[in-house]
Amino acid sequence: MKIPRLLTIKGAHWQVIITRTLKYGENGEELLGLCDPSTRCLYINKKQSERQQWITFCHEYCHAWEHEYEIKLGHRIIEKVESTMADFVQSILFG
Ligand SMILES: [Zn+2]
Repeated sequence: MKIPRLLTIKGAHWQVIITRTLKYGENGEELLGLCDPSTRCLYINKKQSERQQWITFCHEYCHAWEHEYEIKLGHRIIEKVESTMADFVQSILFG
């Protein structure tokens, strides 16, 4: 099953864009994903394994969640839970 292209978080609609052209981060490395609250878009870099795309999706989803609920999880927490979240979501979708 594919990563969902549309999400609703707290009533707000978010678009998920899978792309091969994602801008570079502060250290010049190509980003794996990006959350843009101003356009409510999540970007997932296609140049990673399917498994890693799901982890990146969960990571960016957490950022969208931070925005809509006006909370700060931060990378320390997000990076701890992102792969477990991906396992959980995939277990629901794929059994
Ligand atoms: Zn992040």
